[in-house]
Amino acid sequence: MAEAAPEPVWRVGESVPWSVAWSGEQAFRLQPSTLFPGMTEVGQAERPGVGRPLFAAVHVDRQRRGMAGHLCHVCGEPTPPHDRWIFPVASGGMVTMADGEERYGGNVPPVHQACAKRAQRQCPHLRKAMARPVACPADEGRLIWRTDVVPGMEALAKSLPAGVEVVFSCYRLYGAAFSRKVARLRREEEARQARRS
Ligand SMILES: [Zn+2]
Repeated sequence: MAEAAPEPVWRVGESVPWSVAWSGEQAFRLQPSTLFPGMTEVGQAERPGVGRPLFAAVHVDRQRRGMAGHLCHVCGEPTPPHDRWIFPVASGGMVTMADGEERYGGNVPPVHQACAKRAQRQCPHLRKAMARPVACPADEGRLIWRTDVVPGMEALAKSLPAGVEVVFSCYRLYGAAFSRKVARLRREEEARQARRS
């Protein structure tokens, strides 16, 4: 009989990004939003390291806190402006504004350069996602809430009273100059993929 592979050792900041939710954190409540006054947000129990990491699910409080405070997605510590990197080709998306202009919206907190390199070494999935880091611009853009359901929260969303707008996550909408740069990088990546296939 084949032996089961040993359970890997999960360490937050090394083999598990800080933002990832754990199976021991699956308790939720509604609370007034501190980030978006007047709004109600989903709050989540915080017990990182308890149970198993749920790589497909992001912890809602850590995601918002990371986005607002420029906390590193991998280690959770603040990123200083000179060491603040994002991966706008692999994550987030272009948002079409009312005037038709396209802006980049990022929904993954930034990382330290050293943390990105460590994460790439530890996790084959991150090797591609964390390729070609882009330095965050001095113009931080602005934070915008999202009330659509994030993965792993579908059951909770169904339990909410109908018509109640609840903040799940947030994203950072960048300015025109940085958005043009991201749009160009995305087109270049698309062309690269097309040549490869
Ligand atoms: Zn870090």
